[in-house]
Amino acid sequence: MKIIFLFIDGVGMRDAAADNPVNPEVCPTLCRLFEKHAKPVDACLGVEGLPQSATGQATMFTGVNCPKAMGRHCEGFPGPSLRKIIEENNLFLQLRKRNKKVRFADAYLVESPEELIARRYKSVTTVMALTTPEVITTANDLMEDRALMQDLTRETIQDRYPDIRIIPPQRAAEHLFALAREYDFTLYEFFQTDVSGHSMDYARACAVLRTYDRFLAALVRFTEAAGITIIMTADHGNIECMNDRGHTRNPVPFIAFGPHERQIRDRVESLEDVTGAVLAAFDAM
Ligand SMILES: [Zn+2]
Repeated sequence: MKIIFLFIDGVGMRDAAADNPVNPEVCPTLCRLFEKHAKPVDACLGVEGLPQSATGQATMFTGVNCPKAMGRHCEGFPGPSLRKIIEENNLFLQLRKRNKKVRFADAYLVESPEELIARRYKSVTTVMALTTPEVITTANDLMEDRALMQDLTRETIQDRYPDIRIIPPQRAAEHLFALAREYDFTLYEFFQTDVSGHSMDYARACAVLRTYDRFLAALVRFTEAAGITIIMTADHGNIECMNDRGHTRNPVPFIAFGPHERQIRDRVESLEDVTGAVLAAFDAM
């Protein structure tokens, strides 16, 4: 059993509308997965207010209802008490306990994981990765195409790293697939969807979704042939409603595509169930 986990930030499920760029003309592969392999799941988690990144992602990667634990939806970077929940138990730790080979494919542009500890603001995935530093990929891995940039194409780092060449999204899919063959569980996080959702710029959102879809189209071809399961989900809605700057209360997609997809999907009703579903998939195999 091998799993690629695609965490896509800020993508909810909503009916077709003029301000919803998640449509087959913009992102045909994503929409096909939505239609045939996705289940709409709850991201509000029984707590008032709009779902936010820190608590949504922490829930996704720990199985703890973090908005409930914190008493509210928390934005951006997790504070001390949310970090504590993530550090105590998370998906990477649970997989390592089961002797699974785990990789976090998003490259950190540092020489070594130690440099990340000093960072004042750490994302949920960074806090999680630091509990199992061997999963972390760095600038060296990126140079050797053994990691991906968070934007897929590396365009956003051209000013700082002119030596790192821009690649098409299909190439990023090749790199992720090569990693996934080597590891039991490979996580790739993409947050440009949320960033463009906040911009209220419809054309920009379409461009981001098109790039992601090219990556996804190549990736599903590879994983289907190799029998690797893709799991994909989001922390909250945003980009599917471009008339509004903030997040949405729409359900988020929980996609499972590949071996055992039905059993994996059946276990998930909300973001709280994601970690358990991944672990159950490994335990059953
Ligand atoms: Zn956001």
